[in-house]
Amino acid sequence: MKRNLVFLLALLPMTLWAQFDQFFAESSLRVDYVLTGNDKTTTYALKELIHEPYWSGSKTNLIDDLEFGNYIIKVYEAGTDHLLFSKGYQNLFGEWQTTPEALTLTKSFDESVIVPFPKVKIDLAFCYKTWEGELKEGMRLTVSPDDYFIRDYDNLGLPVYDAWMGNKDITKAVDIVILPEGYTQAEMGKFIKDCDFFVKSLFDYAPYNHYRESFNVRGVMVPSVESGCTMPGDHIYKNTAMRFSFWTFDSERYCMSTDNRDIRDLAGQVPYDQIYVLVNTAKYGGGGIYNFYCSSASSNSFSSDVIIHEFGHGFAGLADEYFYEDADDHMYNLALEPWEPNLTTLVDFSSKWGNMMDKGTPVPAPREKKYEQTIGVFEGGGYETKGMYSPHMDCLMKTFQGHEFCPVCQRAIERMILYYSK
Ligand SMILES: [Zn+2]
Repeated sequence: MKRNLVFLLALLPMTLWAQFDQFFAESSLRVDYVLTGNDKTTTYALKELIHEPYWSGSKTNLIDDLEFGNYIIKVYEAGTDHLLFSKGYQNLFGEWQTTPEALTLTKSFDESVIVPFPKVKIDLAFCYKTWEGELKEGMRLTVSPDDYFIRDYDNLGLPVYDAWMGNKDITKAVDIVILPEGYTQAEMGKFIKDCDFFVKSLFDYAPYNHYRESFNVRGVMVPSVESGCTMPGDHIYKNTAMRFSFWTFDSERYCMSTDNRDIRDLAGQVPYDQIYVLVNTAKYGGGGIYNFYCSSASSNSFSSDVIIHEFGHGFAGLADEYFYEDADDHMYNLALEPWEPNLTTLVDFSSKWGNMMDKGTPVPAPREKKYEQTIGVFEGGGYETKGMYSPHMDCLMKTFQGHEFCPVCQRAIERMILYYSK
């Protein structure tokens, strides 16, 4: 019996590979769409389907069992409930819905999902979670692989800088594409140095330093007409490749872009799982959204901490562990357990880091010197002072004092690296 079990387990990866090859080709289907709504409504509208040349995701982990993110794309064999692929993500629209502006205004945001290119007819289900935690389907599409309205991607013929090649097999690596924002043609040499700085920064932090062979980092060298970045609060407006802007949602240091199509067209020039935009400025700031994209200023004295902090959001789905005394808008429904691996409302703590804690540690633990090095449950996190708890008194997801992730965040990053590299 035991022998049979070992035999079955040995067969499992081969079966999953077979499943990939049976249903998918080694390239990607990109679906561009628009999300429109306000604080209460979410509407999906299709824009375009694009055939991109690489599939760099895992060929064995096709179903996303982490269940991170309030949005999920599901791929079914057409007309059946046979789930072939799924992936969770977050977006700018969902963040905007929690801002005061969404109470009085309707806005639309462009975004894309990428799935392996199908060999058979598929149904794509676009799902999202409401504030109350209910999973809803916002759009369903049936896609046939031979549909001639699926546009072939534009090969932009841009030079690519291989900043770090840890693994030649793109389906067993975390492939990061770095895009330059606000670097002129004359500044491409600086962009190359900044890509090298990104790689050095990444491998300066645990647990990334233990997994160098699981990463590839490529820079796509696209010049901007003007140097720098748009800063509306200072009345500075720049003509740049992807139109990033500080003061996103009126937060000075939040530097994001709604120019989804340009970002995706540039990223799709190379294999990628994660998009990282380096913004050519010394101003402090950036942003990171899970399985969406990350950005950060390239030339600030905190750059290496900011770069890795934002990548914590974009790659591992880590939440901010900091909190404000006077927070007036709320990102979390405190009646639900948040999906982020480094926060808890104690609604369902059993799904979090309890197995990493010593038995004697009180729950919650006071923020006292005695517990400085302890994995615990500390009130405050996710911008909330009350009702939300973090796993450590300090972490790179809270401050830049210690220059390291807490053990719970390190474990979450490690799991994500393994998820991509299996
Ligand atoms: Zn942490």
